[in-house]
Amino acid sequence: MTQNLTNGQSKTVRHDLVARIFRQKLIKFRNVLVKGQVFGSVKYWLYSIESQKHGLPHSHILIWLTNTLRPNQIDDIISAEIPNSSTDKNLYDIVIKNMVHGLCGAFNCLSQCLKEGNCSKMYPRQFIKETQFATDGYPLYRRRKPEDGGQTATVKMKSDSLAIDNRWIVPYSPLLLKMFDAHINVKCFNSVKSIKYILKYVQKGSDQGVFAAHSSNNCIDEISEYHAGRYISSNEAAWCIFGFSIHE
Ligand SMILES: [Zn+2]
Repeated sequence: MTQNLTNGQSKTVRHDLVARIFRQKLIKFRNVLVKGQVFGSVKYWLYSIESQKHGLPHSHILIWLTNTLRPNQIDDIISAEIPNSSTDKNLYDIVIKNMVHGLCGAFNCLSQCLKEGNCSKMYPRQFIKETQFATDGYPLYRRRKPEDGGQTATVKMKSDSLAIDNRWIVPYSPLLLKMFDAHINVKCFNSVKSIKYILKYVQKGSDQGVFAAHSSNNCIDEISEYHAGRYISSNEAAWCIFGFSIHE
């Protein structure tokens, strides 16, 4: 991206580059999952692209594995813990940069995840010694306490330094993080609920707005006065102009 900027241009004005680079990453990511079989043989896959109003595109990807993962396999491919910085500094840096939940609540009362004072993503999570499959099909990932061998870290939050532990880590795949150095939240589901979860993003459609048009003459046409419109950000517009798929 930096190579393609002309003199003094900011990355934030090049929605075309954002779209092209994101698409290249998406194709690589899908190949790693489906052809590379990093989680095992893949039966079906599905993705949808979502553009958030404040920024960059992201993708929700669902893969069905041919063989169901057993609880004892999950710790090998998904972690919700801070890596040990002395044995894997690279992974530690990527996790601290990308996979710490936004320190909501007591730390940050303006956090976007807060709904009526509580974190809508349920952070900080509970400490848990071993990964467990809950009855609803959503596993509870291992998050060890410092006294049980869990790591801690210090993160910068505006001007403060905060000590965090495993309760704040968003589940991730160590392999995928090292390959892409990005925020990649990985979850394992054991239930049909997951299909509903991902289809929600495919079916959701665009953000919408209602706007009014006023004219100077006094004749009032209530139907034409209000229009329902789609809200499309610049990044999403560039994605669509290039004809890239929004789901596949
Ligand atoms: Zn939160």
